[in-house]
Formats: sequence, C-alpha cells, structure tokens
Amino acid sequence: MPPFRTPIKHCRNCGTAVVYRVPDDGDTRERAVCPACATIHYENPLNVVGTVPYWGDKVLLCKRNIEPRWGKWTLPAGFMELGETTIEGAARETDEEAGAQVVMEGLLSVVSVPRVGQVHLFYLARLLSEKFNPGHETLEARLFAEAEIPWDEIAFKTVRETLLRYFEDRRQGRFSVHNLDVS
Ligand SMILES: [Zn+2]
Repeated sequence: MPPFRTPIKHCRNCGTAVVYRVPDDGDTRERAVCPACATIHYENPLNVVGTVPYWGDKVLLCKRNIEPRWGKWTLPAGFMELGETTIEGAARETDEEAGAQVVMEGLLSVVSVPRVGQVHLFYLARLLSEKFNPGHETLEARLFAEAEIPWDEIAFKTVRETLLRYFEDRRQGRFSVHNLDVS
C-alpha cells in the first residue's frame, strides 16, 4: 500500500499551477482548481484488487520483493487498471505476482482504508495447480496451512484481516462477504 498521494501541482489540461479551493458550483470540499482553464481535478479513492488463492486447506502468500514492506508476506493484490473489471484485475495480479492460475470465485472482503484513500477487494480464488512462477515483485510464492501463517510477517492490515475472515469462514463451512475498515 503506497503512501497517500501527493497533492496535484499542475493542471492536467493546460499545465498551469493549480490552486486548492472550494469550487463555486455548490461543492463543499477543497479541490485542485486551475485558475487558467477552470478545470476541477477531483481525487477519489483507488481500488486495490486481489485474491485469496487456495489449494486444499492451504492459501498462497507472496513474499514481497518491493517496497513498501520488502520481505513481508502478502496476498496477491494491486491497483486496478483502467479498462478492466475487479475480477479481471484480481486474476491479473495473481498471475503477475505469483504466476498462479486460478478460477475466480466469490468476493470475500471489501476493506476501506480511508487514511490512504483506498478500497481493497479480495476474491476467493481456487488454484488450478500448486506450481507457481512468481514475477519480479515477488521473492517467493508458497502455500501455507492456517497454523503456518506468519502472522507477524504479514505486510498489510487489509491482508491480515482478510486472511482472518477466510479461516473463520472456512471453519464454519460457508463464506460470506466481509465489510471491513482499517486505519
Ligand atoms: Zn488548466
């Protein structure tokens, strides 16, 4: 999860330095407004999409080869790209980070992270093989049973919370969608 976005400095339309003010159109929040061409730059939360890839009673985690949280374990996840659906993005990230092929299943968690302006969505995903081919962002991809999960070495709270719900649901024999907030 990257740090909060840096403020917009220049107009995306004409390049003039923007000013932060409440627009005159009834808006109630400060926006980056261009004094030259009047373009208002709206900034809204970004979606991070990922999977909980499972194989029998084990889940696939990736050891990060990138900052932040280099060397910590995470579920495959990343920013959604324009032009793709949440499910397509989650499957793409799973392929890019773990080289894992999956059958996408239901939504497991929707996690709001207002501090950084993000919403994370994790889908259950059934692995088609236990052979992985991690990309450059991943040092190692491997399967963990619940008792083996390195809870103190999990990179992000959103991943930790999602994994906890996954194992709880698994014990109860039914999966549902969990709406979570992390700070
Ligand atoms: Zn402008």
